[in-house]
Amino acid sequence: MKAGRLLLLAVIAASVAFYFAFDLGQYLSLDYFKTQQAAIESYRVSHPGQAALAFFAIYVAVTGLSLPGAALMTLVGGAIFGLLWGTLIISFASTIGATLAFLAARFLLRDGVQRRFGDRLGAINSGIAKDGPFYLFTLRLVPIFPFFVINLLMGLTGLRTSTFYWVSQLGMLPATLVYVNAGREIGRIESLAGILSPGLLLSFALLGIFPLLARKAIAFVKARKVYAPWPRPRQFDRNLVVIGAGSAGLVSAYIAAAVKAKVTLVEKHRMGGDCLNTGCVPSKALIRTTRFLADVRRAGALGVRSANADFDFAEVMERVQRVVHTVEPHDSVERYTGLGVEVLLGEARITSPWTVEVATEQGIRTLSTRAIVVATGGRPAVPGVPGIEDVGYVTSDTVWGLRTPPRRLLVLGGGPIGCELAQCFARLGAAVTQVQRGPRLLPKEDPEISASVMERFRSEGIDLRMGHAPLHFERDGERRSLVCEHGGARVDIEFDQLLVAVGRTANVTGFGLEALGIGVTKDGTVETNDHLQTIYPNIYAAGDVAGPFQFTHTASHQAWYAAVNALFGQFRTFKADYSVIPWCTFTDPEVARVGLNEQDAKAKGIPYEVTTYGIDDLDRAIADEAAHGVVKVLTAPGKDRILGVTIVGEHAGDLIAEFILAMRHGLGLNKILGTIHIYPTLAEANKYAAGAWKRAHAPQRVLEWVGRYHAWRRG
Ligand SMILES: Cc1cc2nc3c(=O)[nH]c(=O)nc-3n(C[C@H](O)[C@H](O)[C@H](O)COP(=O)(O)OP(=O)(O)OC[C@H]3O[C@@H](n4cnc5c(N)ncnc54)[C@H](O)[C@@H]3O)c2cc1C
Repeated sequence: MKAGRLLLLAVIAASVAFYFAFDLGQYLSLDYFKTQQAAIESYRVSHPGQAALAFFAIYVAVTGLSLPGAALMTLVGGAIFGLLWGTLIISFASTIGATLAFLAARFLLRDGVQRRFGDRLGAINSGIAKDGPFYLFTLRLVPIFPFFVINLLMGLTGLRTSTFYWVSQLGMLPATLVYVNAGREIGRIESLAGILSPGLLLSFALLGIFPLLARKAIAFVKARKVYAPWPRPRQFDRNLVVIGAGSAGLVSAYIAAAVKAKVTLVEKHRMGGDCLNTGCVPSKALIRTTRFLADVRRAGALGVRSANADFDFAEVMERVQRVVHTVEPHDSVERYTGLGVEVLLGEARITSPWTVEVATEQGIRTLSTRAIVVATGGRPAVPGVPGIEDVGYVTSDTVWGLRTPPRRLLVLGGGPIGCELAQCFARLGAAVTQVQRGPRLLPKEDPEISASVMERFRSEGIDLRMGHAPLHFERDGERRSLVCEHGGARVDIEFDQLLVAVGRTANVTGFGLEALGIGVTKDGTVETNDHLQTIYPNIYAAGDVAGPFQFTHTASHQAWYAAVNALFGQFRTFKADYSVIPWCTFTDPEVARVGLNEQDAKAKGIPYEVTTYGIDDLDRAIADEAAHGVVKVLTAPGKDRILGVTIVGEHAGDLIAEFILAMRHGLGLNKILGTIHIYPTLAEANKYAAGAWKRAHAPQRVLEWVGRYHAWRRG
């Protein structure tokens, strides 16, 4: 380190040490000020210039050295110097102090930080170059971070010193005024009655609502900036246009119609989206049939000497379509029209923040609207493995069209969709090989949970190839194979049919978001804030296109926020609440989860205790020949507060509802234990898990004394 830097560091360190060693903080307290108020006041009257200079110098030192006490000094400044002089002195002192701290951070640390993290700071540097002043102004106006942190961090960026100075002075001025005014009012209190003086009450009210007003003002300025290039229609012929009639879009439109808004729902393909047509509904229908086949195969375990299921693959797949058709009316044009939604079948494109063009069979229609909900969902991701197009593949979109059973099915991917379909096809008689790049199936679950599913898959004859990295596909006539790398060796896997299930990609392109400059996250979903708003406050996103979850129930959960915020946001906006999100993978055994599991808790550094209850011990499960699985509960250490639950076993997706309710409403394990569960049911597993927790937390000392008491009673 250069001598200059060392010297500056030594001066700062010595000053800070001096401050703490001599406990100078005690003089920066309201109590101390109150005891000295009269003396300070008389000094200010007799020596106004010196008093102002001394205050100014102390203020600069406190802020320049990033010491605590600036907020209090601002109040005190108001009390001593009044509104005008107090504001003037503090405005300059705080800005000069902040700039000194900014320069010190820059001089001491910037080169090192940029050298070390330069590659990762690239985005921040270019953001500061482009929007630095506005960003700083926002932080000054709405102090989300303490001022001293802003001073130091800004010093590490490339922001010009002069810009930092004037933006800081301007940005801090409103808050300075509010604080100085509050200080002036506090200084005037002479008796207890003064606490209720209108001036003081108003000052406190201003202190409270200032950040809110500032936030609103910033949002207003930002919105103006983003809307500036787009001409705004004089009036709108709709309140809401919803793009996409999947789970998110249907619920958004439903809510809008229910509150009497004029809403148009646009769908380019099939009403009901993924869930109805190619997702939840067909997959669960197929799972039902294949579960029956699995039950027939284990007839012996149920005491039945022989049972045989004769089936035709095409008929099974037709039944799946029958189920889809039966559910279809729930999501149909007729139903939604009846509910008061205008439904347009066609492809939507957003042409401005307030207009949507719809290409229908009858021609192009342009709709003007106050708000838009983007609910365009996602599609199966297809990896760019060389040769994949030559061998051909089906995805969760197209697998439902198969009418001849694949003899050898290769399933690429070990997530929920890949697992559900792999097991179904294995039970339908296909020789299934499931390939996963990582070491296990269902990698979001804890290792032993994945292990129990993998054990079952293997016992059903599924060839699991974990840790296999696909290199390329080969085709020679009708012979198809995947070449993988596994443990440094080349492995060839032959197959007749490939099913790709490696995840889903959000539909974010081709309908106008790019032209509007609406960004995309690193996960490929539309960038939104906590209220599901894009950079245009009247354009929202919900469902798979918004992420971070990809479930029907989260899509409809988000839809509520998107629709309500879109229609009533001028009064109040709601943050989407993701505190208790459940899900289930409908393999056999089912894997259901809510909240944290162990690997999440470890990654987030959240302390936890684990309680497990083995379902192999449960009477009903034994009677049902379903004596396997576990209820695994994470709780806060020493408390019955539930952090998360994983259930593996039959009907796990239903059983977990009790824990979802408990977590949502803050009920602990003691409450579950104190609830009567019907005997004999699988749901008793939840109560027994709570009982296991209770036993582990029984007060041993007290029990010893109780034992002694009983012994004494026996004489
Ligand atoms: C095999 C499988 C099984 C699944 N099982 C479950 C399950 O058991 N439980 C669960 O919770 N989730 C499950 N899911 C996930 C669930 O299906 C999705 O999370 C859910 O459908 C997402 O709903 P969405 O409204 O966001 O999108 P989608 O349902 O994809 O709807 C988007 C709609 O927007 C339309 N659209 C797109 N662009 C335009 C445009 N420009 N103009 C007009 N319309 C447009 C599309 O045609 C589509 O209909 C499963 C998914 C799959 C694939």
